[in-house]
This record gives sequence, structure tokens and C-alpha cells, in this order.
Amino acid sequence: MNGTATQEQIDEVVARLEEAGASAHVTPGKQATVIGAIGERELIAALPLEGYPGVEQVLPILKPYKLVSREISPDPTVIQARGRRIGDGYFGFIAGPCTVETHEQTLTTARAVAAAGCTMLRGGAFKPRTSPYTFQGLGVEGLRILAEAREETGLPLVTELMDARDVEPVVETADVIQIGARNMSNFSLLAEVGKAPKPVLLKRGPSASVEELLMAAEYVVREGNAEVILCERGIRTFETSTRFTLDIGAIPVLKQETHLPVIVDPSHAAGRRELVLPLARAAVAAGADGIIVEVHPEPEHALCDAAQQIPVAEFPHFADEINALASLMGKVIG
Ligand code: PEP
Ligand code: MN
Repeated sequence: MNGTATQEQIDEVVARLEEAGASAHVTPGKQATVIGAIGERELIAALPLEGYPGVEQVLPILKPYKLVSREISPDPTVIQARGRRIGDGYFGFIAGPCTVETHEQTLTTARAVAAAGCTMLRGGAFKPRTSPYTFQGLGVEGLRILAEAREETGLPLVTELMDARDVEPVVETADVIQIGARNMSNFSLLAEVGKAPKPVLLKRGPSASVEELLMAAEYVVREGNAEVILCERGIRTFETSTRFTLDIGAIPVLKQETHLPVIVDPSHAAGRRELVLPLARAAVAAGADGIIVEVHPEPEHALCDAAQQIPVAEFPHFADEINALASLMGKVIG
């Protein structure tokens, strides 16, 4: 719709699309309002929409992803949680333990990341572990500890939802619901968080293409939840010197393809703590809207991902480096 289109004109087009059996997603923008119509291509193409007052142009979206594509919403999406922002110049700096292990470990880490200027606290209560014989997370008790850490630090919480049976406690406690790499293609879980009233942090599957990641995001947005943050966390390649291969190229590609914010997890990609800072720097320099990193008071005793967690004592230096580079890139810490 052109910049001067009235609400009545927008409503008229939406009504016409719905009559034709299409769903209409209205995105008000700086220059124009975009109405995304999803339905039978031929039926929509047959509507004389160009003749409607207020309509500027009608364009087919050729990409398989529609609602998450740049074409439907040229303005970048900004995700907000408890006043913290990610996207469109706001840099999300998310840090915390891999896993909530104890009250003390979580609170110590939360205080350290808050003091270093991070914008959100991460921590898993429900953990996707490769081995069924390793620590699986504290579950609901872990959520309670995270809530206490938020209470004390004011930091919004990012925590993973693994199973649709845990939707209630996780959605209630989380400020941002993480969908882990292993669940990126769990389409029923994606649809479930698509109905949740909280933003979703969607991690790229280790063997998923950029297009598959965008299609997974489309599952969430299609259900009505437009607040999705995409996360590149490394993919599986023939290379074994890092835990996964951080796909730096995916960052500018995603930024081109989608209006959603794109962040990077250098911790799981690196697998080794000495590689986390250089990978994080590369992510910021490539235009990421944020990073999510693992921090632990005593990584050598961590129950999960011990080798890659940054010790609390070294975190101020890590944060200084990231904050400086983010401002060099013209970003404001969200
Ligand atoms: C995590 O961030 O806690 C995690 C398990 O990462 P991923 O899903 O990317 O493996
Ligand atoms: Mn981890």
C-alpha cells in the first residue's frame, strides 16, 4: 500500500484477500504498509488488486519463505524482551551457563554477565544431550533458579524448550524461548512456539541449509508469532578441528534474505574456549545482531560443555572486546 493509504483502504484489501481464501499479514513500515497474502497463487493473481485505492504494487514472492522474507518487510524487525532489544542497530549480548547446575553456579554467572554489560542471561534447564547417560538438566527446578537470577540482575532469560509437554513452565518463565539446533526441524514444536506470547530464538540445525532455517522460522511466524531471532551456531562439515564449522557466510546471506535479527553462537561452534573470542569477533564484524556465549564460574567442573565455557574471571575481558567491536560496527548494545 502506498504511504498515504488509509486504514479503510488497507482493511478493504485484507477483506478482499480473505474472501478469496487467502490469509493476510499486515506489516506497517516506514515508507509503506505491506500486506502479505498467503494462499492459492492463481486465485490471488486473478484479483484486480492493482485497481484498489491505496494499492501501490502487487508483487509475487518467489522465495519459498514468505513472512520471514525481506520482500514482505523491508524494514528490519526489532525483538524486545523486558526493555532489551535485538535487531536494527541494537546488539544483543546474551551470556550465561550452558546448563543450570546449582543455585550458586547460576547466580555467580548471572552477576558476572550483568556486571559486564550483557543484555540477556542464557541457561538451559532442559538439556538436549547426545548421551542419555549424562546430566539432562534440572528441569523445572532449573527454571526456578533462572527466575531468581533474573529477579536479582534484571536480565531477561533465554532458555530452551525441548518438548511440547514442557511448554507451560518454559513459556511462563522464559523471556525468550530457545529452540535448539536438534529441534529446528521439529515442526510441531515450532508451531507450538508460534502460538506462544514470547519471542523465539531459533538455532540452525547442524545439517540444515540457510533456506531450511528460514523455512523453520516460517513455521513459527505463520502461527502468529512474528518475534523470531535466528541463530547461526555452526554446521557439520568434514572439518574436525572445531566442534562445528561456524558458517560466517550465513550471516550476510540471512541479513539479505530476512528482516529477522540474526545472532551467532560462537561457543558451540568452537567447542574450545580459546576459539570463542575470535569467532565472536568474526560474527560481529560480519554484521550479526548479537551473540550468545557460554560462561561458567569453574568450567573445569561444568557438567556440560566444559571445554567451551568462558571462565567468569576472564569474562570482563571478553565483554570489553565485544562491546568495543560492536560499537565500531555502529551498533548500540541493546
Ligand atoms: C544450547 O545453546 O544450549 C545448545 C544446546 O545449543 P545447540 O542447540 O546449538 O546445540
Ligand atoms: Mn552448551
